[in-house]
Amino acid sequence: MSLLSVVVPCYNEQDAIPFFYKEIIAASEVIRERFPDVEMEFLFVDDGSSDGTLSLVRSLREKDSRVRYVSFSRNFGKEAALFAGMEHSRGDYVVTMDVDLQDPPSLLPDMLSAIREDGYDSAATRRVTRKGEPPIRSFFARMFYRMINRMSNAEIVDGARDYRIMSRTMVDGILSMREYNRFTKGIYGWIGFRTKWFEFENVERIAGETKWSFWKLFKYAVEGIIAFSTVPLSMATWFGIFMSFIAFVMILFIIIRKLLFGDPTSGWPSMVCIILLASGIQLFCMGIIGQYLAKAYLESKHRPIYIAASTSETDKGEDTRP
Ligand code: UDP
Ligand code: MG
Repeated sequence: MSLLSVVVPCYNEQDAIPFFYKEIIAASEVIRERFPDVEMEFLFVDDGSSDGTLSLVRSLREKDSRVRYVSFSRNFGKEAALFAGMEHSRGDYVVTMDVDLQDPPSLLPDMLSAIREDGYDSAATRRVTRKGEPPIRSFFARMFYRMINRMSNAEIVDGARDYRIMSRTMVDGILSMREYNRFTKGIYGWIGFRTKWFEFENVERIAGETKWSFWKLFKYAVEGIIAFSTVPLSMATWFGIFMSFIAFVMILFIIIRKLLFGDPTSGWPSMVCIILLASGIQLFCMGIIGQYLAKAYLESKHRPIYIAASTSETDKGEDTRP
């Protein structure tokens, strides 16, 4: 027998979990018919929810022993939740998916067959449309993918979801990357392995609300760039060379003008502009260096990626959180 672990990060998802559970059970029936030797476990990661998520998952576990959970001491973010889920999973295959049914469970049997029958290490999904999303958000998402792929040597696929099934070898590879600033999309690209891609149309969230504001997404994009590229660091050098070149041309211009026309005192406004521009660029570059320094500082503390308050195994029924 082999085991398939379904890892589901949940942050305040009490409204979506019942729908998800129904769908994943339906998918598991299909899987049982197609692959009679595959068993499943459903591992919910409660990312410090403040609603009824944890008690809902606990009640699912009472009815269904295939349900397991890990519950965080606070909200550590989806990246941490995915990591914890993989760490606690026991399966020979692990699939990570959102609880809001934006990652259709009906694709799961085909994805499983890609690694069991076609010899892939992983099967991943990408959205080919962004229907139902604010246009401005799609625009910035596109820009982000174009930028990061230019700047980083880990390939990051536009529209790729975190909905992905992996072999145990690949999961162990991901778990060996213990960096604190996690950017899973980049990690997948970095570790390699053979991946089969499935495409689907965007599906809207079944219940509850998105946890991502525009600002949160923007910060996430910056994190991604810093985690997987050092190009911004070398930008200072290029700016510097460019500015020096301009300064050199201007010096020549001033000398020649002095020789030809004497030296009327003028050019004060342009001087101010130049000083402002130059110091602006300097601050900008220092800011970039600061960003990397801050990340290096956080990494050097070697803090855990998450802290579990309870899990289905250690739990005796009471919540340890205040
Ligand atoms: N999520 C999480 N921790 C967070 C934010 C989100 O575990 O801090 C989970 C959330 O419960 C969901 C998945 O990550 O299962 C995707 O979140 P969401 O649907 O809000 O993101 P979107 O699909 O809008 O990008
Ligand atoms: Mg969603």
